[in-house]
Amino acid sequence: MAKRFSAEKYVAGILAGDRVMLSRAITLVESKLHSDHELAQEVISQVLPHAGNSVRIGITGVPGVGKSTFIEAFGIYLIQQQQKKLAVLAIDPTSQRSGGSILGDKTRMDTLATNPQAFIRPSPAGKSLGGVTRSTRESIILCEAAGFDTIFVETVGVGQSETAVHAMVDFFLLLMLAGAGDELQGIKRGIMEMADAIAITKADGSNKDKAKVARAEYQNALHLYPRAASGWLPHVSTCSALQQQTGLNTIWQTISEYLQLTRSNGYFEQKRRDQNLQWMYEAIRQGLEEHFYNHQQVKAQLPDVAAQVKEGKKSAFAAASELLGLV
Ligand code: GDP
Repeated sequence: MAKRFSAEKYVAGILAGDRVMLSRAITLVESKLHSDHELAQEVISQVLPHAGNSVRIGITGVPGVGKSTFIEAFGIYLIQQQQKKLAVLAIDPTSQRSGGSILGDKTRMDTLATNPQAFIRPSPAGKSLGGVTRSTRESIILCEAAGFDTIFVETVGVGQSETAVHAMVDFFLLLMLAGAGDELQGIKRGIMEMADAIAITKADGSNKDKAKVARAEYQNALHLYPRAASGWLPHVSTCSALQQQTGLNTIWQTISEYLQLTRSNGYFEQKRRDQNLQWMYEAIRQGLEEHFYNHQQVKAQLPDVAAQVKEGKKSAFAAASELLGLV
């Protein structure tokens, strides 16, 4: 078991920008141990008044689209050209690799990983989406309290995790490849609808023209969607994250424009308040579930009742209400 400190010690370390303490506090919020939850909540509530002052950006795209290369290049751009302090958190509940995930292999972002203005943290392997989502939300709070003003939440664009990420960020960036099969059908409509911006990656060399065509196509496709509640019309641009980087500045301009619009029309604040409320309901649901499954009598009777349902001796509904009645 990892070393534990008092809540005050974690809080003082985080507020002083101590990255080791930040890391340890994230390990604490990721802990599956029931006994750690109280301490984690204490730390969260103490740093909460110091959090929130950041731009939270979700970044998604299928494996191979160039996420880690892009995050490394864009991250360095933000640190060097925009004087940002960047934290990168990853959501990857599908990863089976022990102790790591999409970002676990540090060599994929080695320049960023060693930059003192950056903090990179993969999500723990083997956790459910719900568990990763909760700990990522809390990690965002911890990173903000430690002084990171730009937070990337990276996710692999293949499953439900995009919806979860969308619900915790201010801006959602979708990375896409040009000419990868039937372009507009290849990506789930739902994910495209969530995007505040689409960046066509690898727009270099012989790929440049294809990327330009794809850009026009996606821009047209996005025009067909109803205008978002934010009043924002999603932008599509092209970029290259290799040596001769292009398009990074345009993407930052897009994000800045979005922030300007949504901060002035009140959408930014409104969305964060809605997200907080959603977070509360999720926490209630998780708390109830945990309470239920940890209940002594439920633990004792569940296997037997489940077996009866499986054998058709009891209806699912009757079994559920019997178990719920124990709590
Ligand atoms: P991820 O799986 O989405 O994280 O993708 P990676 O960042 O690992 O990139 C997948 C492959 O695409 C690697 O071989 C990269 O070198 C390559 N790649 C990434 N970005 C670019 C780019 O801007 N231009 C070109 N030509 N290749 C790129």
